[in-house]
Amino acid sequence: MITIQGKGVSTGIGMGPLYFYRRATADIKFYTVEDTDAEWQRFKDAQAVAIEQLGELAEKAREEAGDDAAFLFETHQMMAEDMDYEESIEGIIKEEKLNAEIAVSRTSDQFAEMFASMDDSYMQARAADVKDVSSRIIAILCGVVQGGIASDVPVLLAADDLAPSETIQLDKSKILGFVTSYGSGSSHTAILARTMGIPAIVGMGDSLKMEYEGRSVIVDGGTGAVVIDPDEETRERMMKKHEEQLAFQKMLETLKGQENETKDGQKIRVYCNIGSPEDVHSVLANDGDGIGLFRSEFLYLNSKTYPTEDEQFEAYKAVLSDMDGREVVIRTCDIGADKQIDYFELPKEENPAMGMRALRISLSRLDFFRTQLRALYRASAYGRLGIMFPMVTSVWEVRETKKLIESVKAELREEGIPYSDHVEIGIMIETPAAAVMSDRLAKEVDFFSCGTNDLTQYTLACDRQNNDLGRFYDPHHPAVLRLIKMVVENAHKNGIWVGICGELGADLEMTETFLAIGVDELSVSPRAVLPLRNAIRNTDMSEKRAKILEALDSDDTQHLR
Ligand code: PEP
Ligand code: MG
Repeated sequence: MITIQGKGVSTGIGMGPLYFYRRATADIKFYTVEDTDAEWQRFKDAQAVAIEQLGELAEKAREEAGDDAAFLFETHQMMAEDMDYEESIEGIIKEEKLNAEIAVSRTSDQFAEMFASMDDSYMQARAADVKDVSSRIIAILCGVVQGGIASDVPVLLAADDLAPSETIQLDKSKILGFVTSYGSGSSHTAILARTMGIPAIVGMGDSLKMEYEGRSVIVDGGTGAVVIDPDEETRERMMKKHEEQLAFQKMLETLKGQENETKDGQKIRVYCNIGSPEDVHSVLANDGDGIGLFRSEFLYLNSKTYPTEDEQFEAYKAVLSDMDGREVVIRTCDIGADKQIDYFELPKEENPAMGMRALRISLSRLDFFRTQLRALYRASAYGRLGIMFPMVTSVWEVRETKKLIESVKAELREEGIPYSDHVEIGIMIETPAAAVMSDRLAKEVDFFSCGTNDLTQYTLACDRQNNDLGRFYDPHHPAVLRLIKMVVENAHKNGIWVGICGELGADLEMTETFLAIGVDELSVSPRAVLPLRNAIRNTDMSEKRAKILEALDSDDTQHLR
């Protein structure tokens, strides 16, 4: 028996023979062309076929894995006809007089390198997408047929890395799990695996060897363990775990439509964090009570220039309408720090996390801010909207923002454009300054939402992007928890509600602490809703509440961990 370790990115247990993905590779020839117009046309024809294939894949993905997965292939379609991408290919064909395969291949390397060098992990993962789209076009140019699984029995599929389009084209009835040498938790393959409920482990590196092919293997997508030739005891243990997970999943399904209420009657709202309008279906599928954080950055990240008021309005309206009366809190643009966008032309900073980001940009570029506020207020007529502002440190920022809101509303009234009078205005508590000033800030707004990812970063002076900091970045740190407790007390004294929308909200080790403190709402990823509801329903706070509060005020907060 051999055990090798990777990173589990999609939970579940898979057992079966290991099989390496067969990739039909195109043999890219290098040659010069005389008739560059004809060569350009050859590229255009291949591009058209690729776009058609991607459209079919989008439909297949929609049926098998929902709108999120389909959106991926629609994004690939856009990438295939991206203007900069086309221009680069055209330049190589027409100016350097090289063949289309080489032009696509070089352009692909160049774009992938550009994405890979970005700070944002989401943008880095886009390098795989541009390579995927380009391989498709090259395969069409070379007349290569796509690869797949030539096995009659279901297998655990191994690969160096799987492109999203390779994942979706696979016959799912033949796959028990994924194991890859490379890839990350935010790659689309990992996202697709999670959506489809298939266990997946990435980052095995060199430990994943061809010689394991055909051998009996068990993968645990929760722990990242891959066991080759398991002994009887391991097999039985994993089988038992598998059955327990299936039973747990089945039980979670029965919680849909149930209250988030403890045994002693304390209620808390469980909302969802989303990053694009396509995510609404998983909010509804997981029975989220509302949306507590809609990160509006997707609009800016997916665009080549500032999205227009109408584009923003359509996106916000779609989410509000689809949520059908459930509350939707949209956060205004949080660009800067780890999320850089070229067309914003932000000055290079020594210390971007502490620099021009989020509300600071909005308040420094009023036209840009007004456009987003107008779009939000126009959309407010279509549902129950809350708007919140990121990275607040001072009362004046909130007052200035509220003034701007009033002038936007006056403008809409003058233009006869309808908007709701019941929009809730809130701020994120992400800086120690906002937490310390929460008694004053609470008089200005309708709600607070604690962004614990940044609140931890700024309170502990610990870069959230730096994996090397490990245990120093500790969201359970008493300093963070005491700040949250103080924020909740100040909010409640002033009659407003408080939520948690950072990753900590879904941390089941913290659920009882948040209940004890009196947090009103937890906003988590859609898949975390039902496990959280289960934890809430299974606890009785009547005896725990006082003990937890006492521990928070004493020196001994270790037991909370
Ligand atoms: C946070 O900081 O906790 C948060 C929710 O915002 P983001 O992760 O988008 O910075
Ligand atoms: Mg934040």
